[in-house]
Amino acid sequence: MAGASCAIRGTFFDFIDDPWKHIGHEQDAARFIRDGMLVIKDGLIDDFGPFTDVSQRHPEVPVTHLQNRLILPGFIDGHIHFPQVRVLGAYGAQLLDWLQTWIFPEEEKYKDRDYAATAARYFFDALLAGGTTTCLAFTTSSPVSTEEFFDEAARRNMRVIAGLTGIDRFAPAGSVITPDDFYRESKRLIERYHRKGRNLYAITPRFAVGCTGEMMERCRQLKQEHNDCWINTHISENPSELRTSRQYYPDCNDYTHVHEKHGLLGPKFTAGHGVWLSNDELRRFSNAGAAIAFCPLSNLFLGSGLFRLGRATDPEYPVRIAVGCDMGGGNAFTLVRVLEEAYKVGMCNNTMLDGSVNPREQDVAEAERNKLSPYRAFYLATLGGAHALYLDDMLGNFDKGKEADFVAIDWNAGQLAMRWHQSLIVDSAGPGAIEQAAQLLFGVMTVGDDRNIDETWVAGKRAYKKSAEAVSA
Ligand SMILES: [Zn+2]
Repeated sequence: MAGASCAIRGTFFDFIDDPWKHIGHEQDAARFIRDGMLVIKDGLIDDFGPFTDVSQRHPEVPVTHLQNRLILPGFIDGHIHFPQVRVLGAYGAQLLDWLQTWIFPEEEKYKDRDYAATAARYFFDALLAGGTTTCLAFTTSSPVSTEEFFDEAARRNMRVIAGLTGIDRFAPAGSVITPDDFYRESKRLIERYHRKGRNLYAITPRFAVGCTGEMMERCRQLKQEHNDCWINTHISENPSELRTSRQYYPDCNDYTHVHEKHGLLGPKFTAGHGVWLSNDELRRFSNAGAAIAFCPLSNLFLGSGLFRLGRATDPEYPVRIAVGCDMGGGNAFTLVRVLEEAYKVGMCNNTMLDGSVNPREQDVAEAERNKLSPYRAFYLATLGGAHALYLDDMLGNFDKGKEADFVAIDWNAGQLAMRWHQSLIVDSAGPGAIEQAAQLLFGVMTVGDDRNIDETWVAGKRAYKKSAEAVSA
């Protein structure tokens, strides 16, 4: 019913700033309302604040009370592959071999519309079950997969960014697309999907090793003709890939230069990984307003390396950072698991720089920035991800006017040991202060998994409830 409102009552936790700007008092970047109320109208946040205040302003609105939950903005995944649902967690190879052995043969199946449609249902069911309401996704080089992705996202009214994925070398014949076909099909798909409902389009050169200069030039042309579109790619994931990129682009000084040369590095540009980017490249990302999707599940699974979170969050040239599961290189969908691995990557980097390995390389400030507190972690999964992807005017926290996507977290679910573990922090009354809520969230990200996601709401409607089948319209 147009104009109808509804409201959620419960305990809310979101962010109003970047915690790395508040070192030593990160809670200043967050917002905690123990007994709050979120009023939703037409899928948008109409009012938000303490229950006692907000309920007086909206005496007629029907209220759903989510008790014993922490309600956070929906998670934002900055890097995921729609056509890899079925091959997540494939054994035993590094990036370039893994692509040839497992990934390209599977992705070729997505030319079949029925297969792609089935996969899209599995894909979005799994995302919602993990608390993710928005993603930046790769499809395949077949437009069928891109169409099925967007059509399924639209059925669920989810805010997504994706695009036809361009690759014209370094893959079997059935996985490539010519630059001319890529250009023509991308244009058609942009017309059909970009800013239709909640769909947004990303011009998507898969990775520079797999794209000829001609393909990269077609991407430049598309960006010039559709400047409102996003750009999605991979960069500096793996050392062999880095060496291969130097062979294919001998005139470029480094991997980032390939994207600069083709006019792509800038706002709304996101590249997955960036594990092996130099300090100078990170500085150029920062200056350009470009983003990196940090994908620790995948970086560890494929042995790619440790992303230098502390370096990328240097206050003098901070890079926009999202987190991504990178399923199927990443072996899980939920950002809860991603944050766990991100924490471990950060701790390894911390040790490399705290002086205990090599006193000459000690950098106490960078070492500290690697440590993923719950504030930093859940910021990356929500408002930070929105900022990285240039979506923070639409979503990412509970500000009035934003889209009402959120997740209800059960801090006691997950492993059998969880309830007793969390009872160290709170009793049955739940968190009374922001620091307790943050500690519960730390417990969720280090001990928990997707079982902690109890409900996921999209545009003000419940789209997933644990222990019930996901609602797939
Ligand atoms: Zn990827």
